[in-house]
Amino acid sequence: MSVLVFTETENNILKRNAAEVASYGVALAAQLNSTCSAIAFDATDAESLGHYGISKVIDVAGTPKHFDAHTYADIIANYAQNNGVNQVVLSSSADAKYLAPILAAKLGAAYVPNVVALPEGSTPLKVKRSAFSNKAFAFTELLADCSIIGVGNNAFGVKEQPTSCTLTSFAADGYTPKTEQLAIEKVTGKATIADADVVVSGGRGLKGPENWHLVEDLAEVLGAATACSKPVSDMGWRSHDEHVGQTGKPVATNLYIAIGISGAIQHLAGVNASKVKVVINNDPEAPFFKAADYGIVGDAFEVVPKLTEKLKDFKAQH
Ligand SMILES: Cc1cc2nc3c(=O)[nH]c(=O)nc-3n(C[C@H](O)[C@H](O)[C@H](O)COP(=O)(O)OP(=O)(O)OC[C@H]3O[C@@H](n4cnc5c(N)ncnc54)[C@H](O)[C@@H]3O)c2cc1C
Repeated sequence: MSVLVFTETENNILKRNAAEVASYGVALAAQLNSTCSAIAFDATDAESLGHYGISKVIDVAGTPKHFDAHTYADIIANYAQNNGVNQVVLSSSADAKYLAPILAAKLGAAYVPNVVALPEGSTPLKVKRSAFSNKAFAFTELLADCSIIGVGNNAFGVKEQPTSCTLTSFAADGYTPKTEQLAIEKVTGKATIADADVVVSGGRGLKGPENWHLVEDLAEVLGAATACSKPVSDMGWRSHDEHVGQTGKPVATNLYIAIGISGAIQHLAGVNASKVKVVINNDPEAPFFKAADYGIVGDAFEVVPKLTEKLKDFKAQH
């Protein structure tokens, strides 16, 4: 019986969330007195999973060239059924949430996404997951012989525990992909909200789209993705793919900086899973301050350029 971690790739490189799911899988195996390996599809840096305690990576070579949920599920299920896997760990990304239910059907497994901690107990496993846009937690028992755990973004964190890592090739020939991805055209070449470690977000307090250089300059120095509140995208100041909150994208980054955003519950519902929230607002009574880890009461037009300059100086010196 063993744990298998599915790691996602983009352009043959492991995605940022691979480190977190690997850390979770290794910790889960230790808790269950089990072993943990990872499965990666055409990842040129698969051995780097050794940093997070993965000693064996199943390297799937051959078809399919791009993510195809049905084919990936066929291949992972084949490997799992023939190698005594009874726990599969993956992320809670859009791709993972597409793949996991198909895999669960093939393995007759129990699947729970958005899990925020290691399970309690062992038979059955009891997991805690976020629910209602991170406003609540649900506790779920996994009653099937095989279980699939989707780790919430940034919920567990990355634990470095270097070990030597070997690659074992697993032939994926003979599978016929159900879809073929011809190209990916990203909206911007910048960090995306889903992949970013830091998000800088602007609200109606910035007065107009002509002032967005404040958000973009700060984001650039931090290597962050940019985001906005709903009214900002509704008014066409920014595109809708930047809108975060209950009706927009969820944000679960390590750092979320909110500039000129009041902190309405619908906005907070989408961002309160972020680890550290910094709020810049000129109204000390703005509701966002109650949810903030750090708050700056001040005019964004004065505070943000100073913050950006200080960070640039800091980066130049380090
Ligand atoms: C069903 C429903 C779903 C919704 N879903 C979402 C959602 O997903 N995401 C979302 O964001 N909203 C959502 N909303 C809208 C939400 O209720 C708020 O209206 C919205 O979040 C407010 O956006 P804002 O904070 O940018 O603007 P405002 O509420 O206008 O706040 C602007 C803030 O900027 C501050 N400010 C002004 N000038 C400055 C300055 N110079 N320097 C610093 N601060 C300044 C003000 O003090 C104020 O706090 C939803 C609403 C409904 C009814």
